[in-house]
Amino acid sequence: MALIVQKFGGTSVGSIERIEQVAEKVKKHREAGDDLVVVLSAMSGETNRLIDLARQITDQPVPRELDVIVSTGEQVTIALLTMALIKRGVPAVSYTGNQVRILTDSSHNKARILQIDDQKIRADLKEGRVVVVAGFQGVDEHGSITTLGRGGSDTTGVALAAALKADECQIYTDVDGVYTTDPRVVPQARRLEKITFEEMLEMASLGSKVLQIRSVEFAGKYNVPLRVLHSFKEGPGTLITIDEEESMEQPIISGIAFNRDEAKLTIRGVPDTPGVAFKILGPISASNIEVDMIVQNVAHDNTTDFTFTVHRNEYEKAQNVLENTAREIGAREVIGDTKIAKVSIVGVGMRSHAGVASRMFEALAKESINIQMISTSEIKVSVVIEEKYLELAVRALHTAFELDAPARQGE
Ligand code: ADP
Ligand code: ASP
Ligand code: MG
Repeated sequence: MALIVQKFGGTSVGSIERIEQVAEKVKKHREAGDDLVVVLSAMSGETNRLIDLARQITDQPVPRELDVIVSTGEQVTIALLTMALIKRGVPAVSYTGNQVRILTDSSHNKARILQIDDQKIRADLKEGRVVVVAGFQGVDEHGSITTLGRGGSDTTGVALAAALKADECQIYTDVDGVYTTDPRVVPQARRLEKITFEEMLEMASLGSKVLQIRSVEFAGKYNVPLRVLHSFKEGPGTLITIDEEESMEQPIISGIAFNRDEAKLTIRGVPDTPGVAFKILGPISASNIEVDMIVQNVAHDNTTDFTFTVHRNEYEKAQNVLENTAREIGAREVIGDTKIAKVSIVGVGMRSHAGVASRMFEALAKESINIQMISTSEIKVSVVIEEKYLELAVRALHTAFELDAPARQGE
């Protein structure tokens, strides 16, 4: 008999019919003999609706109170599923994060899990109950409700699996696994049988929102076997694993991630003296703005241009800080662009293959897509391009790296 944590996402519990379907599925697994802990998201759209309600009161809701409201979405679904299970004769009980005691730090809206008390859950499992836990939420040492950031139910699932030493954490969603890229954007995307934690972490960090980044970090750290599956279709899904198989067929690139969340700022005509990067980015980080990609050009005429990207939500704040800096250090001007996108190719196969970046640049050149910025690490290459070319770029790269699914017969 195995202990399995099953997490169902927002669309999978998006209506009463779906919740009944999830209950049927859980019942079947339970009857097969496994111990089950089920983690749920709020109904799809609900968390956005709750945030919107708060925003109708104030532009800047107090983070603590925002957590009080957004955590209610998950409280609704856990009660409904538990009722649906009991109706089917499956003993079950629901718990909020506070009731389990998922202890987090006090960073409201982006809290980190510190500790999980597994006693209650273990006692219920022993009594033969299915335990249904609200995802996305916890409680801090002061007893305040906290939430784990958007998509945080994935992290609740993985953290519970780690705490309970579960045999597997299954993430049920509206796609049947992790794909080579977002299947909504590239219809030729292929489901991956396996992907390494390291690759999945890069994919998630670079914009593939199929799993929350922290859930992948957690799974890697505690070695939780993690699988992404379709809620209502049978299939093996995608296993996230540690092993990097040295197989001949191992593709160089496992996937392509992209995001439209960033904006670019350039400060031009900066007097080129030692410490210039610090003078520019010091005030940005002092304002709590995270910087992603950075490019500094070679100086000529003793001045240089310096470009970096920030999250789009922080663009205006960053622009104000940078304009102050420009005045202080005597730079010529500040320019910016919010209509950019970042496209990244990810794969552990890159470690052992040369020329991956140039193959990427060639594919983009063939489509006449101009690259504005580049950054590389051991297993990824990212480029910033004009946003309007994003889909074209992702599709071109998908084909260039031979990731396209084989055409079905007759196509
Ligand atoms: P849930 O509500 O179940 O948590 P999400 O919307 O958070 O579901 O995640 C599933 C979605 O992730 C899919 O519908 C898909 O559009 C998107 N996605 C982005 N990149 C990928 C990828 N590489 N593979 C699979 N799905 C992806
Ligand atoms: N309901 C939360 C969100 O929409 C958490 C989750 O679904 O994982 O972000
Ligand atoms: Mg999600």
